[in-house]
Amino acid sequence: MARIVVAGAGATGASVAYHLALLGARDVVLCDRGQVASGSTGRAMGGVRQQFSTAAEVALAQASIRFFEELGEPLFEQVGYLFLATTEQGLADLVERAELQRSLGVPVERVDPAAVPGLAVGDVRGAVICRTDGVADPAGVTREVVRRAVELGVELRAGSDARELSWETLVIACGPWSGELGETVGVDLPIRPLCRQLVDTAPVAGVPERLPMVVELETGFHFRRTPTGGLRLAMGEREPRWGWRTAVDATLVADWLARLARRFPAAAGVGVARSWAGLYDMTPDAHPILGRLAENVYAACGFSGHGFMQSPAVGRALAEEILHGGSALDLSPYRPDRFGGDVAFPETLVL
Ligand SMILES: Cc1cc2nc3c(=O)[nH]c(=O)nc-3n(C[C@H](O)[C@H](O)[C@H](O)COP(=O)(O)OP(=O)(O)OC[C@H]3O[C@@H](n4cnc5c(N)ncnc54)[C@H](O)[C@@H]3O)c2cc1C
Repeated sequence: MARIVVAGAGATGASVAYHLALLGARDVVLCDRGQVASGSTGRAMGGVRQQFSTAAEVALAQASIRFFEELGEPLFEQVGYLFLATTEQGLADLVERAELQRSLGVPVERVDPAAVPGLAVGDVRGAVICRTDGVADPAGVTREVVRRAVELGVELRAGSDARELSWETLVIACGPWSGELGETVGVDLPIRPLCRQLVDTAPVAGVPERLPMVVELETGFHFRRTPTGGLRLAMGEREPRWGWRTAVDATLVADWLARLARRFPAAAGVGVARSWAGLYDMTPDAHPILGRLAENVYAACGFSGHGFMQSPAVGRALAEEILHGGSALDLSPYRPDRFGGDVAFPETLVL
């Protein structure tokens, strides 16, 4: 097949290009108008989990985790994802979800959270963990995937806008900016940018080397260990910040530090090492848009905050679809045409 241009060298585009080359495509260009991982990928938390609540999402996550396992440390640390419930209803939800996940082959187990050194669990009614989930370095993983792609013959063009290149097949993997490129080829992608932020604390004494990602089910507050022994904090926001503006909200930072001090008391009074904001590429149902958009034009975008962890499976599936007309993974829940008629975005999103 002649020239395939993959637009966007974030986690998604890198994986699509790599898998195209692995499957034997010979004329693949991976372009980015910025640099590799300079979009949302370079701003992500790095959480990689299989604990989703629908079979389709679980399948994407399971197929991806095998790739992360193969990459191994330090790019991927399989420390697990621990969900804490502080209410009876929350615990019932966790248990019900865990049953579904186990039926799909995800090894989720009940666990005593007091076993995690330093965690305050006096208010916790119950917890589950999946030990094969973990945390990764999104920019590092993406650079490694690009390195492998280039080794297989993919041409990398950083600083190059897809709108200025000629192509016979185009893959739109431009994250929040995908709609712009879609417009130039006559397709309307229902993707809206949503600002989200992260906070890295200074090192905290006593943070376990293998701390799992800790997620409070009811509040959505979650944190992981950073490579320097601090904690990286995140939380869904009560008032979604729609739009292109990325800014750190200091009020949220103060609130998260207070939450951290309650959940991990050794972190009380710790300073902030770094805080930053980035964009989620939201679709109306918070699921990605994958597959054929028009003649020789494909989409891999709209990941709504969980695209890094899905990128290995998505890249493989898109490459199979482009080269062979179909993929082993069922992409039917993610087709672009599912948004018929007027598309309404939800007022609030549980992320
Ligand atoms: C604060 C935050 C925390 C997150 N945490 C997680 C997490 O824990 N786990 C997880 O899985 N996901 C997480 N995400 C989501 C994740 O970052 C994204 O879903 C994922 O990185 C998407 O990768 P991408 O390659 O699709 O897009 P991006 O990384 O945004 O890459 C798109 C690229 O396209 C380029 N581009 C744009 N227009 C053009 C053009 N016309 N021509 C050429 N190039 C173009 C841009 O320069 C950019 O580099 C988080 C996101 C944020 C903002």
